[in-house]
Amino acid sequence: MIQNGRARDPYEVARRRMVADQLVAGGIKDQRVLEAMLQVPRHEFVNPGMQNQAYEDRPLQIGMAQTISQPLMVAIMTEALELKGGEKILEIGTGSGYQAAILAELAKDIYTIERLDTLSIRARRVLHKLLYKNIHFRIGDGTLGWPEEAPFDCIVVTAGSPEIQKNFIDQLKDGGRLVIPVGGETVQELVVITKVGGSFRTRNVTGCGFVKRIGEYGWKCE
Ligand code: SAH
Repeated sequence: MIQNGRARDPYEVARRRMVADQLVAGGIKDQRVLEAMLQVPRHEFVNPGMQNQAYEDRPLQIGMAQTISQPLMVAIMTEALELKGGEKILEIGTGSGYQAAILAELAKDIYTIERLDTLSIRARRVLHKLLYKNIHFRIGDGTLGWPEEAPFDCIVVTAGSPEIQKNFIDQLKDGGRLVIPVGGETVQELVVITKVGGSFRTRNVTGCGFVKRIGEYGWKCE
């Protein structure tokens, strides 16, 4: 936790309301996830003119035709990882950096990949300002994973994908979890895959609508 030294901010009430009215009401039970979302200043991750909308129950545009995910979706994905604190996590789709911050509150090391350098650089600046030291950034095609740092305890993919990729499962530790939205270009199913021995178990969590994941193993174009 790095809230020490972070000044009280004018959005504290809005954040408390977001946690109660959207996350608890939406079925999130993991207290550590709720606490992290109470701590991380989501308004720092949106465009300056949109800060007063940061705690609303919806995704927001962050530029470059991309979005910061809806708070409940971030909470659902994070809860599905069942984090205890010592994990090494790979995130595909840094975007605003908000999900990376939530993960950094709850796990040991976060490796996050973004294909658009403008977004990666901006996220890096915000996360540095908020004093996160356990997030590692890469600009490039996340569909390839991060083989040099594998294996990971968890991989979380925050952009929609046509299929579950084998190379992500290959980069998971035994017992590790992959959370990934799988399906069409606008509507997907959020799936949790747990690697067990040479095989894996799949569980569907909820319907969702992420932006497209573009790359070698994703959609081929915007
Ligand atoms: N996790 C983000 C939301 C991500 S939106 C947040 O908390 O704000 C999805 C992001 O995935 C976009 O920024 C998009 O540019 C990125 N993306 C799409 N395809 C990608 C790929 N193949 N590799 C890395 N990033 C990708």
